Amino acid sequence: MPDAAKRRILAQRRTSAASPAGRARLAHVVAIAAIAVLALSGVAAFGIAPDTAVDIPPVRTVERSLAAPEMLTVPDDPGPFWREERIRRGDTIGSLLARTGVDDPAALAFVRTNPEARPLYQLMPGRAVQVATDSQGSLVALRFRTADGDRLTVARESGALVAMRAPAPETVRLALKSGEITTSLFGAADAVGLPDAVTIALAELFAGDIDFLQDLRFGDRFTVLYEVRYVDGEPVGVGRIVAAEFENRGERLSAFLWRDADGQDAWYTEDGRSTRRAFLRSPMEFSRMTSGFSLARFHPILQTWRAHRGVDYGAPSGTPVRATADGVVELAGVKGGYGNVVVLRHTGAYSTLYAHLSRFAAGVRGGKRVRQGDTIGYVGATGWATGPHLHYEFRVNDVPRNPLTIALPTAGPLPQETRAAFSAHIAPIARQFAFARELPVARFASAD
Ligand SMILES: [Zn+2]
Repeated sequence: MPDAAKRRILAQRRTSAASPAGRARLAHVVAIAAIAVLALSGVAAFGIAPDTAVDIPPVRTVERSLAAPEMLTVPDDPGPFWREERIRRGDTIGSLLARTGVDDPAALAFVRTNPEARPLYQLMPGRAVQVATDSQGSLVALRFRTADGDRLTVARESGALVAMRAPAPETVRLALKSGEITTSLFGAADAVGLPDAVTIALAELFAGDIDFLQDLRFGDRFTVLYEVRYVDGEPVGVGRIVAAEFENRGERLSAFLWRDADGQDAWYTEDGRSTRRAFLRSPMEFSRMTSGFSLARFHPILQTWRAHRGVDYGAPSGTPVRATADGVVELAGVKGGYGNVVVLRHTGAYSTLYAHLSRFAAGVRGGKRVRQGDTIGYVGATGWATGPHLHYEFRVNDVPRNPLTIALPTAGPLPQETRAAFSAHIAPIARQFAFARELPVARFASAD
């Protein structure tokens, strides 16, 4: 890594550490460092500026360090003659094109009146227009993305102006973010500008190992490399998680995307073990709604487990409850203190129980087959419950066991013959993750 970049990161670390709010800014610092490293090693990284209210002077700094030419490549690079302008409130076609350097009355008249160009002359503020001109200011081509995702192109073809509209081609780029849990996973995700869809996918990815409503602790860390879909240089959505790492209570879990021989996407640990588990750790889907409602967000509740042989999840009435594993419904009905309860029978000696439901999901009745993650009912307060919550039991040979600590069966590992290819594929990502891991540890030590 070039010295200049390293210095920039170190300077950033010092500023953060020196200030009283340094700890709160940790997540940002990590993100900055990690992104810089990715970009330097030739993988494009985007979408950095966090859009949160958290106290962060470094937003501007982030942009500055990313603006270094080796760190940012424009997706779908439009070439040296292209300019981009955003439509402003009060713009006319004339003022807009003048800003892009177009001096071409014929082109102006064409864009104003051609029916295909209608989406452009509606002049929606904030939308970007890309324009290429020759040295005299004559229009060579113009590109504009319509609200419904098409690309409108105006170009000169053998002297005549033409307008075309076609679905805009998408490019996929990778973004890397790191964060540290100080209040909640969504808090950490917001602090580094991680989109909700990625945060939830991250929680799903490790749902076999971590109960995100019960297991998170202050100081847990994550790094995630994910796809961002771009059209004409603008992000339009996110795609898959390519790799992720989650350090929970001192234990580090990793997941790397790999396309299996049958064309299915699957995630494996660094040493080729599947991240998929026969059981999810939690019967509650992790979402913004549930994340704030757990009874025990940062406190172990194992003491109470002994008393009533299950785990309680506080959540608003109506929150979906999901099957933690594939299985068959043994019971969906009312049973004493459990109130409305679902019991699922799984392969082997396992069964699970979900109590106090307000109601059952459509079609959930005795004998029905369910898949892991299917909604089977909704949180309620039926039976002996003082307020809405889910009471979850995990049983082996009909004996309740603690689902938060029991070792659960896993899916099959990566076939031996693909291990070498897999290792080669993940090596550069693993190196970047290792770097992202270094900084916060060092900072943490120096801040204390
Ligand atoms: Zn309970």
